[in-house]
Amino acid sequence: MTVSLDLSRRPAPQPGPKSLAGLSIPALKAEMEALGLDPKQAGMRAKQLRRWIHHFGANDFSVMTDIAKELRAALGEKYILSRPEIADHQVSKDGTQKWLTRFAPGVEGESVYIPDVGKAGALCVSSQVGCTLNCTFCHTGTQALVRNLTAQEIVQQVLITRDALREWPSSMEDRLLTNIVFMGMGEPLYNLDNVAEAIDTISDGDGIAISRRRITVSTAGVAPKIPELGQRTGAMLAISLHATNDELRNELVPLNRKYDLKTLFEAIRAYPGLGNTKRVTFEYVMLKGVNDTLAEARDLVRLLKGVPAKINLIPFNPWPGSPYECSDWETIEAFAEVVNRAGYASPIRTPRGRDILAACGQLRSESVKVRASELRRQQQEAASS
Ligand code: SAH
Repeated sequence: MTVSLDLSRRPAPQPGPKSLAGLSIPALKAEMEALGLDPKQAGMRAKQLRRWIHHFGANDFSVMTDIAKELRAALGEKYILSRPEIADHQVSKDGTQKWLTRFAPGVEGESVYIPDVGKAGALCVSSQVGCTLNCTFCHTGTQALVRNLTAQEIVQQVLITRDALREWPSSMEDRLLTNIVFMGMGEPLYNLDNVAEAIDTISDGDGIAISRRRITVSTAGVAPKIPELGQRTGAMLAISLHATNDELRNELVPLNRKYDLKTLFEAIRAYPGLGNTKRVTFEYVMLKGVNDTLAEARDLVRLLKGVPAKINLIPFNPWPGSPYECSDWETIEAFAEVVNRAGYASPIRTPRGRDILAACGQLRSESVKVRASELRRQQQEAASS
């Protein structure tokens, strides 16, 4: 005889203790107030915690010698300092590293560390799991949006990389991780509140201390949010352009039907602080027979006239089932030559980490959106098995 249990009325299992790793100063302060500290004390403790967690990389409260023993004990009871679980970690033969991080059950996103990019090395972080944009050449575009990542989850991707590179404390002179690019999964400007809070934490000089000038946010062109991004974060701007006319761009980047090139360029020109030392990066993926003629190279130069710009020509990175091919190398070089003659230096970006599907546009996780009720059911099942 089989016995079946009705689990539907059982309360959902309590989530484990909350991690403080990756929280912003305001979020840490709110936690300290929840612990019963008055606002002034809470503010002070938040700053101490920030230094231990984001400057020294602490993962144990016992090292926090300037915090009273009783408070350390109270912290240890309610909180942890761990990072989310790493579901997968791969290293490419060119040194590129890719992490698949499990932020929550069924919510997994990728980050990629690329050595010798930027000043010394860049981390490409995800801002969402999945994406809503459906750009036809992008692997992430084939995965529906699961959810926005929180500010904490974005910062935790940096902590995981710092752990792996053993770069604590963060004040080291010759760092391996010097630049952050929001070019992983998702559209950062559809999650601007969390991206802005994460940038505050990453650039905090008493914490992770990566300057805003070394943080780049890439967008497919959410025009109304572009000037706001600059005002709120002071970050560098990158635009995924890929086409020089609306007809083709509508096809490759469907978001262009909402914000066409004219609207996009008005927004770009309104980005605060642009000049010779603060240029917009334009990304242009080279698709064979689609957007790679010399006439388009000249159109590109014309389109960027008057905008302080850098150009990145990205050889198309294939992924399983992708509907495009990468332009021939001679075509890319001829295209680059036109761009070069117009005064833009070394514009071809060498693909990195292709062997582990870590290159631009190859990121995709198996996560799917699950209804909250279904998630509770799965958790209950897991807890009772
Ligand atoms: N949604 C944002 C952030 C993602 S950035 C944006 O679109 O800018 C990821 C970059 O990789 C973008 O410039 C994207 O256009 C580019 N990309 C996507 N798929 C690619 C592929 N298969 N090969 C090369 N570059 C690709």
